[in-house]
Amino acid sequence: MDFALSSRAAALQERLLAFLDERVLPAEPVYEEQLRASGNPHHQPAVMEELKVEARSRGLWNLFLPHATEWTEGLSNLDYAPLAELTGRSKIAPEALNCSAPDTGNMEILTMFGTDAQRERWLAPLLEGEIRSAFMMTEPAVASSDATNVRCRIETDGDDFVINGHKWWISGAGDARCAISIVMGVTDPDAQPHRRQSMVLVPLATPGVRIERDLLVFGYNDREGHCEVVLEDVRVPRANLLGEQGGGFAIAQARLGPGRIHHCMRSIGSAERALEALCRRATSRVAFGGPLSDQGVVREWIADSRIEIDQARLLTLHAAWLMDTAGNKAARSQISAIKVAVPSMAARVIDRAIQMHGGGGLCQDFPLAEAYAHQRVLRLADGPDEVHRRAVARIELAKHGWKD
Ligand SMILES: Cc1cc2nc3c(=O)[nH]c(=O)nc-3n(C[C@H](O)[C@H](O)[C@H](O)COP(=O)(O)OP(=O)(O)OC[C@H]3O[C@@H](n4cnc5c(N)ncnc54)[C@H](O)[C@@H]3O)c2cc1C
Repeated sequence: MDFALSSRAAALQERLLAFLDERVLPAEPVYEEQLRASGNPHHQPAVMEELKVEARSRGLWNLFLPHATEWTEGLSNLDYAPLAELTGRSKIAPEALNCSAPDTGNMEILTMFGTDAQRERWLAPLLEGEIRSAFMMTEPAVASSDATNVRCRIETDGDDFVINGHKWWISGAGDARCAISIVMGVTDPDAQPHRRQSMVLVPLATPGVRIERDLLVFGYNDREGHCEVVLEDVRVPRANLLGEQGGGFAIAQARLGPGRIHHCMRSIGSAERALEALCRRATSRVAFGGPLSDQGVVREWIADSRIEIDQARLLTLHAAWLMDTAGNKAARSQISAIKVAVPSMAARVIDRAIQMHGGGGLCQDFPLAEAYAHQRVLRLADGPDEVHRRAVARIELAKHGWKD
């Protein structure tokens, strides 16, 4: 196992660090102020467009792409890992680099399964950062962590599909620039459970697509919106099918592998930033006659946080290395393992940092409470912890001849 960075990734890391320090971190309060002043939770602050222009000019654009493009020669998972970790330090960094979910996963689907026409129409503007996208799988009526439960119906009518369904937690759908969505629904109800669903491209402006409301996360209305969406007699050409009919489940699996590891890499960055904040606060506040950092319990928090972050990083690098060397399928157990271990670790570290900041840690003056909420989300989004533990356990049991 060799976790060394290539020289190209090392150079990108240096450039990204400078971009974060010089432009992104100073832009955070400006972004919040512009968002607040607009009075619209889905407003796109002007400073974000400035950051995007600057990121492109510094060659820090679309870094998530695994294959060669006009932006990068393509980065392996191992090379992308430390870069994604750095972007996880700031909630506005991923979008500034055009590396944010759910667009990255959707761009990967379009790259892997899109026709030339689909790629030209939707992938090109996504790669340019001109539009945004959504992914519609989860439904309020069914346990959606089991994707075979999806009920949304996609019926054939001549050269069209007609779609009826009810989705929720659709990230990005609240953003005015969200132009396209990938919808998962049932095309072949009589097929075996894993061949019933297909994925279809649905422009958000299609008649019958109705955004009902935003769902708040612990009371936060994330700028991109996590929306409840009704699809009523939505008609799109059959040419909007992604991949083959009945292939929706397989595409969902292909999409979530890289997406999960990217989330974990960013979570490690978020935990690192929280630990830095914890240490700074511990050394700058005095209570009961000395700095808080003199307290044994505080030192224990700091030590445990360092140990846990480094453990999580090694586990994540191992999964990245396995994906690069043996393929995403061979790394299934390791991807599920980090999806369980890393957000929980990050939430624990951020929780300690919140505690160290006293009441301040819970308010908007520090990024900790929001960061905590995000890590808590990741114990559910892209598959709940229990479902990933189930996957790890099944692979272990299979080694002993057990099949269910
Ligand atoms: C902020 C946020 C953003 C999201 N963005 C998107 C998006 O963009 N697009 C999209 O389609 N979805 C999105 N989701 C939805 C997310 O992927 C689902 O919430 C998740 O997959 C779980 O599905 P569910 O909510 O239907 O829970 P259910 O499937 O009803 O499961 C409920 C609980 O049951 C337990 N459980 C389930 N299976 C097992 C098992 N095998 N063993 C033991 N316990 C089990 C788990 O504790 C689980 O949390 C988002 C969610 C959040 C919170």
